[in-house]
Amino acid sequence: NSQLNPAYTFENYIEGDCNRLARSAGYAVANKPGTTSFNPLMIYGGVGLGKTHLVQAIGNQIKNSNPEKFVLYVSSEKFVNQFIESLKTNNVQDFANFYLLVDILIIDDVQFLSGKEKTQEMFFHIFNHLHQSGKQIVMTSDCPPRDLKGLEERLLSRFKWGLTADLQSPDFETRMAIIHKKMQSDGIDIPDNVVEYLAYSVDTNVRELEGVLISLIAQSSLNRKEIDLELAKQALKHIIEDVETEVNLDFIQKTVAEYFQVSLDSLKAKTRKKEIVTARQVAMYFAKEFTSHSLKSIGYHFGGRDHSTVIHSVQTVSDLIDTDKKFKASIQELQKKFKSKAG
Ligand code: ADP
Ligand code: MG
Repeated sequence: NSQLNPAYTFENYIEGDCNRLARSAGYAVANKPGTTSFNPLMIYGGVGLGKTHLVQAIGNQIKNSNPEKFVLYVSSEKFVNQFIESLKTNNVQDFANFYLLVDILIIDDVQFLSGKEKTQEMFFHIFNHLHQSGKQIVMTSDCPPRDLKGLEERLLSRFKWGLTADLQSPDFETRMAIIHKKMQSDGIDIPDNVVEYLAYSVDTNVRELEGVLISLIAQSSLNRKEIDLELAKQALKHIIEDVETEVNLDFIQKTVAEYFQVSLDSLKAKTRKKEIVTARQVAMYFAKEFTSHSLKSIGYHFGGRDHSTVIHSVQTVSDLIDTDKKFKASIQELQKKFKSKAG
């Protein structure tokens, strides 16, 4: 039993700027395990960015084209627990022998080995043996090797023998492609404007994007409603607001519109009336300060403006703060509201 989930394949792993190097290195390893210079292959990146999917895709591909090879996927947590168990039951030798038989060892989330010296010693032994025998080792971690605290130096230096590649937060195009792929595989239809809305709004990680999609589909069938923008906004609220701060784009826009006594819609409209332009610029300024939205995403939520407009707005507000005392006081007052809400 390889512990691989057959659902994780290269075929459904969307390629994008955010993962290009890691994906192509993974692909190379999957086709020539143990014989490329990418040994070990170390993939690192934040939570939900696709580390487990990618390394399992490597395992699945190797297993499919080389059924005789012993491919093993194991989380570091499980590795540690198995090792501790073997210590307790006096089976350390069996534990070691099992791992020494593996042809392709995929070990996920090695940051979990941190501080566990005995386990690291065992892993060091296994690593050396496998590597010397030309067996492939694939690892993931939530940070680059140099930032892995609590890991032995001799282990870290071996991690750097092969190739280290990172996964970044998915860029807009990749997010669009992931949604489209998901629609295709689940056989669901989502209108273009909703796909775009989701791709702009959920820009942290893929797992969250999938979560919003699942919630959206569930709500649509629960309420027997077609998927539309309104439903998407609801689904997003359920998922995002709990994890993000209370100060989201909606709240900023409402608060600023009220403060400047302009309508909420006017912030997103084309109008260039002076008081509205000012309110809009201030709202963009706070969106930049208090949310994690990209400039592109902020522009999108202000009536589809581009990111250079957002940069200009932020700059204009900063300049006014420096030169206009009354304006500065207004900004500080608003800032207090947001800060108290952000906690
Ligand atoms: P990590 O291990 O980095 O926390 P996962 O591999 O568990 O992340 O990925 C989280 C979810 O996002 C999974 O359901 C995975 O299939 C999906 N996912 C991540 N990256 C991609 C991608 N490039 N293409 C398609 N799905 C992806
Ligand atoms: Mg993972």
